[in-house]
Amino acid sequence: MSFSYEVKEELARIASNTCCQKAELASLIRMAGSIKIAGGTGKAMLQIQTEHASTARKAFKLLKKHVKSPVEVVIRKNNFLKNHSLYVVSVNLEESRNLLKELGILSNDEDRVRFKDSVNPKIVKKRCCRRAYLRGAFLGSGSISDPKGPYHMEFVTTGKWQAGALSRLINSFGLNSKVMERKNNHMVYLKDGNNIADLLGIMGASDSLLKFEEIRVIKEMRNSVNRMVNCETANLNKTIDAAVRQIECINFLKQHNLFDDLPANLKQVAELRLEYPDLSLKELGQMTSPVLGKSGISYRLKRIESIVENLQSMKGEENHV
Ligand SMILES: [Zn+2]
Repeated sequence: MSFSYEVKEELARIASNTCCQKAELASLIRMAGSIKIAGGTGKAMLQIQTEHASTARKAFKLLKKHVKSPVEVVIRKNNFLKNHSLYVVSVNLEESRNLLKELGILSNDEDRVRFKDSVNPKIVKKRCCRRAYLRGAFLGSGSISDPKGPYHMEFVTTGKWQAGALSRLINSFGLNSKVMERKNNHMVYLKDGNNIADLLGIMGASDSLLKFEEIRVIKEMRNSVNRMVNCETANLNKTIDAAVRQIECINFLKQHNLFDDLPANLKQVAELRLEYPDLSLKELGQMTSPVLGKSGISYRLKRIESIVENLQSMKGEENHV
């Protein structure tokens, strides 16, 4: 069962307040509704299509409450959807025309049947009704990725204006949703984990929100542990690289019988470095007499490196001549 499915199950179970029902129905119709001419009778029907049984039940109940004519539900096996069931909830268009106008979905133009793009401000005046509108929108066309992976929540809409209207409504709660065009559809999407968590809460999916946050905490803890380990590994690599370089320099001096020419304080540090290649500078410092700090050891080892660099460049010039 996908996380999207779980969220929809939870949202479909919520019984909306009487004042919110029209907002919820409006967004369900807007996101998942269409107008079809029924084959046999030639009558125009308003249809809500969904793959989600509980959403179909919700649409059925809400339509039944607000339209007098019979509401039908048909279940189709859809080969394109890998044999998933497709639920089609339909009601006669003429008999639901008044409701659709009230919901701000159909224009007042009697000759043309056309969905309006904007959200009717009257039905989303109250905050509770705006929340219900978003709940209906998610049931109609929303999806959310598994929180174990990258965060993503989206709503598929059929048009740019419709997407813009939904995005503005979401953002009226202080969130930052965006609109993107994909394959002739316009998607409203959110990528930020905090925003997605907030929207789950706003829609009323409190169980899903809890699960989302639990996974998020574990995921973020794992990320910060990984970051810490990576950082320590990087530092360790730097330390090892430096030690290898220092040992090469000291060996160069030995091979050229120059080691004994080093001043005593440098020689002492060089010998310790050879004997303890894996100790840190601080630890080496504690073995010298008198005890030296990290910077003192670092300074001496750098002196050795620069002596060797000078010798090597002179040698290079000699060879050249
Ligand atoms: Zn309300």
